[in-house]
Amino acid sequence: MEAPAVSIFLVVLCFDRGMFPDPEALLHDLLLLAGTESPSADPVAVARVLDLVEGWARDLGAEVRHLSGGTRRFAFGEDGTRPPLLLLAHADTVWPHGTLETMPLRVEGERLYGPGVFDMKAGVVGAIHALRALEGQWPAGGIVLLVTPDEEIGSPSSRAHIEAAAAQARAALVPEPPVGESDTRHAHALKSGRKGVIDAALTLTGRAAHAGNEPERGASAVAAAAELIPRIEAAARPDLGTTVLVTQIAGGTATNVVPAECRLTLDVRVSQAGEDERVLRGLAALRPTDRRVQAAWALAVNRPPFPRSEATLSLFAQAQAAAQELGFTLTETAVGGGSDGNFTAPLCPTLDGLGAPGDGAHAPHEHIRLDMWPQRVALLTRLLREV
Ligand SMILES: [Zn+2]
Repeated sequence: MEAPAVSIFLVVLCFDRGMFPDPEALLHDLLLLAGTESPSADPVAVARVLDLVEGWARDLGAEVRHLSGGTRRFAFGEDGTRPPLLLLAHADTVWPHGTLETMPLRVEGERLYGPGVFDMKAGVVGAIHALRALEGQWPAGGIVLLVTPDEEIGSPSSRAHIEAAAAQARAALVPEPPVGESDTRHAHALKSGRKGVIDAALTLTGRAAHAGNEPERGASAVAAAAELIPRIEAAARPDLGTTVLVTQIAGGTATNVVPAECRLTLDVRVSQAGEDERVLRGLAALRPTDRRVQAAWALAVNRPPFPRSEATLSLFAQAQAAAQELGFTLTETAVGGGSDGNFTAPLCPTLDGLGAPGDGAHAPHEHIRLDMWPQRVALLTRLLREV
């Protein structure tokens, strides 16, 4: 009775091996994409990356739509029988033109270094290869790949397209980077929740005066800032995952002048729905005790929170089981940084961090792990077939 079990096991093993993409082909396509610089601020450059992706998508038979603002929508086998699966990626990076000269693409051992490889050009290439592995056998309902041009600047032009696609999707898979390998507790983990981000800055305007001769005629914006900072940071609710920190401050013009202006910028993140509104209202109402100093707040929700939900955890359980069959273990964690997954999570079950393992997003040591990448692409293929 044992022989059949063994042969079934071998069949499964061979089947799964067949799902691993060719590492050489992955690397080839990533070098092409990462060799094309695409800072968010230059839509023409970002469009060059989108053109490359569009070429690959057309080869796979995509129905292509160019949406306003530069977002591109590639549909595979959309048949209307049920909501499609959404694959969400971005083509822009935080790196300005010329970065490749100082941070060239280079392979060192198992790692490929270079601007944008981890966040998230390897994710884009992985998505294309995962689609290719389906060999035209699209799941019922089909798959929509949405590639946006402006994630790194808060998705001003693409947010509406992302939300429209998510509202019609049965789930969203986001091949953004997983947790970095330098994280001792959660290296390579998928992202099952993300904090929401509020953009907040405060300009204080007081009155200048000679600091030695007649300081009483001045109203110090710097003193007002010092008095305000503890009150601002008191808006934090660590028990709810809300953090509020004044991270930058600039004020004053000379040592002998009562400072008339001071500017503060904040890092504000929230984990739970509703906390963004509470913090916005609380900050907007804060004024210096010295009424001669005017306060002007610039406040906006950059991304809403992506709470760690049952829907996401059940998607993760599916991914974890698939990873086990593919021969590796998968973990998940909620993280502080936002992504476009924050926009899809309120509208459909969302699993983020499905890109290539590595480290150093937005940092000079940005890299991916070439040895661990193919198995993540195979996992994505499984999810495209099964979710
Ligand atoms: Zn990203």
